[in-house]
Amino acid sequence: MTRGAMAMNRVQCQPGLSMVESMQQYGAEATCYRPLYRARWPQGFRCPACNERRRSRFRRGAQVYYQCRTCRHQTTLLSGTIFQATKLPLRTWMLAIHLLTSTKTSLAALELMRHLGVNDKAAWRIKHKVMQAMAEREAPRQLSGFVQIDDAYLGGECNGGKPGRGSPNKQAFPIAVETDAMLEPPAHAVIEPVRSFDDESLKDWQRRHLAPDAEVFSDGLHGFRRVADAGHAHTVLETAGERAACVVRGARWVNVLAGQRQTRHQRELPRHWSG
Ligand SMILES: [Zn+2]
Repeated sequence: MTRGAMAMNRVQCQPGLSMVESMQQYGAEATCYRPLYRARWPQGFRCPACNERRRSRFRRGAQVYYQCRTCRHQTTLLSGTIFQATKLPLRTWMLAIHLLTSTKTSLAALELMRHLGVNDKAAWRIKHKVMQAMAEREAPRQLSGFVQIDDAYLGGECNGGKPGRGSPNKQAFPIAVETDAMLEPPAHAVIEPVRSFDDESLKDWQRRHLAPDAEVFSDGLHGFRRVADAGHAHTVLETAGERAACVVRGARWVNVLAGQRQTRHQRELPRHWSG
């Protein structure tokens, strides 16, 4: 998530604010800065280059600069946000965000132009930037680095010794866990149901949840082999009659999350069941 999206997240944190209330809160230029400052630096200033807290402040023209005491990096409240380099008053942006996010249906750029009193070019640019930041905020988490993937069925793996894969009425979901290079505790996990483990569903899942740099560890499940086709490095944890996930250290976190208790007789499954 970019800083722009993050800042907007918090700026927009009062749902149901009426237009009048919004104008009172953000109507004066100066009052736009405080919520934005809090949104960007909720625990007080942090140097974007080195994370230092101590800074000095100075003015150049109308712009307030913050300079890091340690690395001398200079920044402004707006740099790195969607408001960077804007020539429009912040209150215009705040009103635009209010208008674009408080209606269920998308507000037309021409309407925005009328409400904000800006030209059509500016209205389009504002709409584009705000919608982009919103889309980023809504985007599903993408896992990167080392990612362990396993397949599971809700309720299907552990009951009564029956193989879970392919059973009717079971919800299929890939379990993916991002680890560091030492394969240590999961930083993030994605557990989201898919229609089934067919190629199309898995491809769609990968597109949404795997960052381009992700390197994938999995057992030989047919669909997961396709992650290599999608340009991801893929290490197949080969099985020797037993589920790789049970024995290979690289996959233990997916096991922990899947809560799988597998025995040998549960694993007598076709290798390419999905094909
Ligand atoms: Zn610094």
